[in-house]
Amino acid sequence: MNAGTTAKQAKSQALFISDLHLTEASPRTTSAFLDFMANEAMQTERLYILGDLFEYWAGDDDIEHPYNRRILNAIRQLSNAGVAVYWVPGNRDFLAGDRFAAESGATFLPDLHDVIIGNRKIAVAHGDAQCLEDPDYIKFRMMVRNPQWQQQFLSMPLEQRKLTIESFRKDSKKENETKSDSVWDVTASAIDDVFSQTGAAAFIHGHTHRPGIHEHGPGKRYVLPDWDLDGADKRGGWLEMTADGQFITHTVSQ
Ligand code: MN
Repeated sequence: MNAGTTAKQAKSQALFISDLHLTEASPRTTSAFLDFMANEAMQTERLYILGDLFEYWAGDDDIEHPYNRRILNAIRQLSNAGVAVYWVPGNRDFLAGDRFAAESGATFLPDLHDVIIGNRKIAVAHGDAQCLEDPDYIKFRMMVRNPQWQQQFLSMPLEQRKLTIESFRKDSKKENETKSDSVWDVTASAIDDVFSQTGAAAFIHGHTHRPGIHEHGPGKRYVLPDWDLDGADKRGGWLEMTADGQFITHTVSQ
């Protein structure tokens, strides 16, 4: 290693990622993530994972799976190196719990959290709670976010939980085929609420897979891209808040 011989660049203040949908079935996306964690993510003060890191998470006993252990270890290495790792779980990995946090060194944040970074107030969320035009999804979200439902679900054997999640996903895929385009995006009034509740200058979220930067009065809304290096339409990337407080979008190299 030649650390110390190269000029030290100012570390960025934060990087933001979401919607990697990591699964053993996507080896290229997995490598791109591990590469990002070993390189770019080591050059920042804080990493924010804004949900749907995993394709799905059936419960912390699944940490034992070698694939999941690899992903967890990559987070552990980053936190061991002094990078503060924060995770807002998404609609696919909200069952990640205390054991995952303890073993990875990541700190879980509530969905919609605000923080001051470099004198600026930044709000972060996964983004599904701001999509209000799908009543079926809102009902489903209320059910699965209920602590009693979660306790009951987590008391089932792991394999049974995985099968249940697979069947939820099959159902939602079928329903989604008939849904109009607007249900896939955030609702304007929900975005107004985020800015007025938090007083943030910027709101960063994922979930919609519609990366972009939107003006919102004096504030800005940054939508993170999803990652897929295994399919035909290759994509992925992250948002950087530089040492001097600028936001820069980065695309993953293919
Ligand atoms: Mn999502």
